[in-house]
Amino acid sequence: MSLAKKFLFFLTIAFSTTFLFSNSYTVKIGLKENIKKFKISLNQSGATLIIKSSSGKVTKLKPKSEIEVRLMKDDKVQILEKTYSLPFKFFSKKGIKIDNKIFPGEIEVFLNKNGTLTIVNILDIEKYLYGVLPYEIDTGWPEEMLKVQAVIARTYTIANLGRHKEDGYDLCSSVHCQVYKGISKNIHKEVKKAVDETLGLVVVDKNDNLAQTYYHAACGGVGTENVLDIWSGVRDFEYLKGVECNYCKNSPYSKWRCVVSQDKLVKLLLNNGYDLKKIVDIEIISFTKNERAKEIKIKTDKGDITMKSEELRKIIGYNNLRSTKINEIKFLENNIIFYGGGWGHGIGLCQWGANELTKQGKSFKEVIEYYYPTTRIKKLY
Ligand SMILES: [Zn+2]
Ligand SMILES: [Zn+2]
Repeated sequence: MSLAKKFLFFLTIAFSTTFLFSNSYTVKIGLKENIKKFKISLNQSGATLIIKSSSGKVTKLKPKSEIEVRLMKDDKVQILEKTYSLPFKFFSKKGIKIDNKIFPGEIEVFLNKNGTLTIVNILDIEKYLYGVLPYEIDTGWPEEMLKVQAVIARTYTIANLGRHKEDGYDLCSSVHCQVYKGISKNIHKEVKKAVDETLGLVVVDKNDNLAQTYYHAACGGVGTENVLDIWSGVRDFEYLKGVECNYCKNSPYSKWRCVVSQDKLVKLLLNNGYDLKKIVDIEIISFTKNERAKEIKIKTDKGDITMKSEELRKIIGYNNLRSTKINEIKFLENNIIFYGGGWGHGIGLCQWGANELTKQGKSFKEVIEYYYPTTRIKKLY
C-alpha cells in the first residue's frame, strides 16, 4: 500500500470508528452551591467510596454510615478526619446518596468564587433523563407521551449545555433549567423505557440545528403562541409561531382564579424596581392571536406601568398567575382577582394537548412535529 493509500485507509478507519462509537453526552448538573458542609452515604452498604483528587491520587474508603464533608479554613475539606485538597470527585459503583437521593456517575466538589463548596453530578445524559422526566410529567401518562417528553427534554438539555458555565457546570437542578433530584431507588420502568427507546433522538430545525423545545402544561384550549408575543428579547423561531390546540380542553387547568392583595402586589412591584404606592386599575392593552393578554397596563398613583403580561406572571409567581390567558380582572375591597385558563407560557408544546393526541393514536414523532412545525426528529447518537 502506498503511503497515501495507507493514510486514506487510516482515515477511513478513524472516521468509521468515530461514527460507530459516536456516543452519548456527559452532562454536569449543579446540585448545590454556597454550602460549607454536606453529608454523603453510599447507595449500597459495604460498597467502596473512591475519592479522586485532581492530581489523579485515588483514596478508597469503606464508610459504614453517612459521612460529613466539611470545608476547612485552609480551603481543604475534611472527610473522616483526613483532609483533601479541592477539587476532587467521589465515585461509587452503585451510586452516591446526598440528602437521601441517589446520584449515579461522579460527584465533583470544588471551591467556587464565593469561597464555598459547589457540588456537581457528572453523568451520562440518558441517566440524567431518568431523573428529570418524573418531575416534568405525570409518569402515569401513556408511554408515547413519555417518549415525547424524553425527546424534548433531551433536546433541551443538549441545546442548553453550558448555560451555567460561569458556575462550573452545564445546567442547574431547579426549575430554572430542569428539575433533577437524582434517581429514585426504583426507577419508574415506563420512564426508563421511554428514554431507552428514544435513545439519542432530538428535535432539529430545517437547518439541522437543535430546536428550542419549550413546552408548558396546558395552553388552555386556545392554541399555542408566537414566542415573540410572549417574551421580550428573543429570536424569531420558525417552529415557535403557534399552532391550534383544543386537545387540552379537558385539562384540570382549564379555569383558575388568582387572588392577590393590593398591598402584596404593590410590594412585589416595588421589589421589581417600580415606583408606586397604590394600584388604581389594571388593564389589558393588547392581545395575542389567541386572546392571551400580550401587554398589560397597571395604573398607579405615580403613573402607568406597561409590561408584557408574562413579566407580570414572573412578578406574581408563575404558579400563582398560571397563564396570561386572563379573561377578567376584578378589584374587590383590598384584593385583585384574576380569572383565567391554562397553565404555562403557551409556547411550543402543550403537554395536556400532546397527551390527548397520543391517546388518539398519534406517535411521539407526529406529536412533536405538530407542535414544532418544520422541525424533524434526528438520531444524534
Ligand atoms: Zn439553571
Ligand atoms: Zn393545548
